[in-house]
Amino acid sequence: MVDYANTEIAFKMRSNGELRRAEWLFELLGHPGLVKVGSRTALWALRQGLPIQGLVRQTVFRQFCGGETMDECAPVIQRMKGFGVHSILDYSVEGKERESDFVRTAQVTIDALRFSAQHPGVPLGVFKPTGLGRIALWEKVSAQRGLNIEEQSEWERVRHRVQNVCLAARNARVPLMFDAEESWMQDAADDLCLEMMRLHNRERVWVYNTVQMYRHDRLAYVQSCIEMSEKEGFKVGFKVVRGAYMEKERERAESLGYPSPIQPDKTATDQDYDRAIELLLEHLDRTALVAGTHNEESCRKLVALMGSRKIPASDARVWFSQLYGMSDNLSFNLAAEGYNVVKYLPFGPVADVMPYLIRRAEENTSIGGQTGRELRLIRQELKRRKR
Ligand SMILES: Cc1cc2nc3c(=O)[nH]c(=O)nc-3n(C[C@H](O)[C@H](O)[C@H](O)COP(=O)(O)OP(=O)(O)OC[C@H]3O[C@@H](n4cnc5c(N)ncnc54)[C@H](O)[C@@H]3O)c2cc1C
Repeated sequence: MVDYANTEIAFKMRSNGELRRAEWLFELLGHPGLVKVGSRTALWALRQGLPIQGLVRQTVFRQFCGGETMDECAPVIQRMKGFGVHSILDYSVEGKERESDFVRTAQVTIDALRFSAQHPGVPLGVFKPTGLGRIALWEKVSAQRGLNIEEQSEWERVRHRVQNVCLAARNARVPLMFDAEESWMQDAADDLCLEMMRLHNRERVWVYNTVQMYRHDRLAYVQSCIEMSEKEGFKVGFKVVRGAYMEKERERAESLGYPSPIQPDKTATDQDYDRAIELLLEHLDRTALVAGTHNEESCRKLVALMGSRKIPASDARVWFSQLYGMSDNLSFNLAAEGYNVVKYLPFGPVADVMPYLIRRAEENTSIGGQTGRELRLIRQELKRRKR
């Protein structure tokens, strides 16, 4: 039995000072208006070169990121590992459009994989396809619109970077996950990921894709990948998430007049999320699974399913995953019971990870109850310590 309400275990790593700072931050994040104005002002100020990096660093950055460099993340990785919680180094620099940025991100991803190979606290790697190539190009390839000569060679370079990071993962013996992004660029990423799985996942899963179960076509996609893997003799790995771009997806579908790829409601997303997890567990001889969620019920269900299928908590094919700075009650209590737990640990220069931080801040105001949950648990623990 995992006791997700055990705040002593959940926050063992945090000093009283750290907990009070987190309480203050989540209180602020509970005000959507403030978050909106604050994020815009911070972005503007950073672009103007105003000296607010220190302020960002001491607040949201500290809560949700491990540091600006991998070396700065090392003490956090070490601390979490002490409680059985692992890390994924996530170079969270987003929204770049220049070739030089893509080359740099590919190199940092490879460096992170090599770092992981040296650090047992970092068992997995990750990258965002749009970190290695322009989103407009991914979109054009996904839509199967013809590329001109220049775009063809640009696309070859993107493919080459993806191939290189996958090869580096296998050489470092650190499995690598493709993050999932907007549906209109996803087909090209899925095809390339499948190509990498066919190439690398013969003996075990070195390459994982991500499926967003808020899309109504994803369950069929998971099923078809499992069937393909059976026929062709390779293994498939999936990080299963609900999906982070729902409003954007719905707005685009409406404005361009095509049917929304998003499920009709949350219940449908939850059902497909559960079913995808079940499917992957049913075929564990050919699959591996990372459950990326902050939903306690989803964790409960996966624990129960593993129990009923007699899958040991420490089976290397099943991981629970949360983001650093969030839902420590899930991560640390699951790890205390011997389950494989890994937290995304974002890193990168403060100014460059701002889009990631703004998403975290907005998510913590918009997702029903997340901030409330974090605050309640932090306060419960502070009270317990006082007693
Ligand atoms: C380790 C990790 C890795 C992640 N990687 C990715 C990634 O690669 N790509 C990505 O897109 N996201 C990713 N996410 C974010 C994830 O997709 C969710 O946005 C986030 O985790 C919230 O979902 P939940 O399962 O934690 O919680 P819940 O609070 O149970 O679910 C909230 C989610 O349900 C869905 N939802 C809410 N309302 C509705 C509705 N009315 N109709 C249909 N669906 C609805 C939305 O997806 C929403 O985000 C990741 C999350 C984690 C923890």
